[in-house]
Amino acid sequence: MTAAPIVEIRDLRKVYSRMRKDDVVAVERLDLTLGTPGTVHGFLGPNGSGKTTTIRCLLGLIRPTSGAVRVFGVDSTTSFHLAAPRVGAMVENPKMFPNFSGRRNLSLLADMAGIAKSEVDRVLSIVGLSERDGDSFESYSLGMKQRLAIAAALLKNPELLILDEPANGLDPAGIAEMRILIRSIAEEGKAVLVSSHQLAEIEQVCDDVTIIHQGNLIESGTLDQIRRHAGADNVVVEIENRDAAITVLAAAGVQARPRPAERELVVDVDADRSSDVTRILAEGGMYLQGLYAERATLEAAFLNLTGAAPPPPTAPPGDSAQNDADYIADDTASGQTGTGVAS
Ligand code: ATP
Repeated sequence: MTAAPIVEIRDLRKVYSRMRKDDVVAVERLDLTLGTPGTVHGFLGPNGSGKTTTIRCLLGLIRPTSGAVRVFGVDSTTSFHLAAPRVGAMVENPKMFPNFSGRRNLSLLADMAGIAKSEVDRVLSIVGLSERDGDSFESYSLGMKQRLAIAAALLKNPELLILDEPANGLDPAGIAEMRILIRSIAEEGKAVLVSSHQLAEIEQVCDDVTIIHQGNLIESGTLDQIRRHAGADNVVVEIENRDAAITVLAAAGVQARPRPAERELVVDVDADRSSDVTRILAEGGMYLQGLYAERATLEAAFLNLTGAAPPPPTAPPGDSAQNDADYIADDTASGQTGTGVAS
């Protein structure tokens, strides 16, 4: 029998109903699969695009309006508790006792969950806080606080770690440390789902990504696939007579534009069409001095993709009846509440 995917979201829709205000369609037709242990799946989207809502559905903290959300084959909406021992999560602001040390905060969480004290040493060491374990939580930098929250989520040695915006508010050094930490956790064999609106940062740590915008799935796949689909790769040509080259390429239906660097032209074709560029120029009697493919950053691809995104969704009338409690009571789908850490 084939094992169920670690995370499987199918056709997820979540509508928040609000008193005397229009409904908010936070997530619409979302599919997401995280299938492989030891990999990092990036969940990307601008602020307000529905990432936290999706993660809360995944953790059984709120009830989807429709669609299927499964973790290790377990329906999160009805039975997340069955998957919970295999899942660690850091969602929104980690809550810790400010006057207690990092170690004491973790020890309390371990006690509550019936986890051996030795695990506290293990997770402190993973997140690089062993040396500062006796300092009070309030004296930690933001990066250290985030790392302590990840340590809390790692206490039960989960197979799946879900991190909602772990790089939020960190400076470049903190973000770099966070990247190294996420990668090392994946290398231990854990699957990591990490959400971010900081595209440039996540690009370096993810094996594959899902991009959403205004609640809608825009694209998913490996980084190479995303870049290719977004058509954001370019070919850069070095050539003596740029203006003539632009004319020759334009006559063959290929757009090119000069770059600030002398002799460089950016040609709007995918990298796998670079031989066409060479041929067109040679047929026009022009010989290039250099040619290389310039890989788009994921950010460029993301902008390309979300530029074509659909307008903000609006809920059809009457769609909200079953969700009236959501906005008011922040409903819990499987009878549990979120603590911010170690869900
Ligand atoms: P951010 O990165 O800013 O946290 P996000 O991608 O995580 O954004 P969500 O927090 O899921 O996005 O929000 C998606 C949409 O749903 C937003 O328009 C938000 O205002 C709305 N929303 C979220 N929670 C609620 C709620 N409890 N009631 C009403 N609307 C909500």
